[in-house]
Amino acid sequence: MQLNVFHKLLLFLLLVYQHTSNGADWNHKTNGRSWKGKCASGEKQSPILLSAEKARILLMPRIVFGNYHVKLRGPISITNNGHTVQMDIPETSNGRKPYIVGGTLKGRYVADGLHFHWGSPDSRGSEHLINKQKFDVELHIVHRNIKYIDINKAAAKKDGLAVVAVLFKIVEEPKRIFPGLNRVMNAVAKIQKDEAKTTIPGGFTLDQMIGNVNPHDFFTYRGSLTTPLCQEAVTWIVFSDVLPVSHSSVSKFWKLRDHEDRILINNFRKVQHLNGRHIFHRVGKFV
Ligand SMILES: [Zn+2]
Repeated sequence: MQLNVFHKLLLFLLLVYQHTSNGADWNHKTNGRSWKGKCASGEKQSPILLSAEKARILLMPRIVFGNYHVKLRGPISITNNGHTVQMDIPETSNGRKPYIVGGTLKGRYVADGLHFHWGSPDSRGSEHLINKQKFDVELHIVHRNIKYIDINKAAAKKDGLAVVAVLFKIVEEPKRIFPGLNRVMNAVAKIQKDEAKTTIPGGFTLDQMIGNVNPHDFFTYRGSLTTPLCQEAVTWIVFSDVLPVSHSSVSKFWKLRDHEDRILINNFRKVQHLNGRHIFHRVGKFV
């Protein structure tokens, strides 16, 4: 079949659209101030300021991490997608997926992937702030409500996603070492270029990414993804326990490159208005 000029134009526009919708058309240069659509018009956006003073204390179950103690099956894919370091979360060696239950969640949320937000040698990069404090790195473990078939379907639903956020602070000699996190950080040097991919062997657990983070004390609220399209599909679970990380680990992030071959630093979104939402805080050891 011969393609006429009109068809060729349509095809060209489709290719341009596919390219830009892959995420090449946005960046963190203004920390999200220029993003359009729901990112600009939404009223339940993330991240936000969290404070023990303003949050409501709520008696709710602790977060239970299912299969977080079971080793992941390799090979595990790690990608520099031009915005962050993204790790896919595979099945565990028992053939199941890690998941969470508890907090205000109804039902089970299955782990899909994890990624990081960071700053630069002279600025901190966490997205959420706790009691006015910004931290160096924020890890997001993205979970999908088990009742939705995939992450895209889930991102279109109010109860579609649950994101666990763990904050890290650079300390001189970290007393707690997280072997899973180290495995991922060691792979970062291999994916400095935009769209670079590598794999690491399995055999470590998600618990080994976040160690013994205290699952009893966390903030939870309804918000959004912090990157375009900023869908308001997320129940956020932000742990109060800030974990230690070494300067040399975090400095590996600062060598990565983005879509424009610029240095990929400060990939956090600025904090958003609360617009009357409630933030809940779980404290103590209520089970
Ligand atoms: Zn994130």
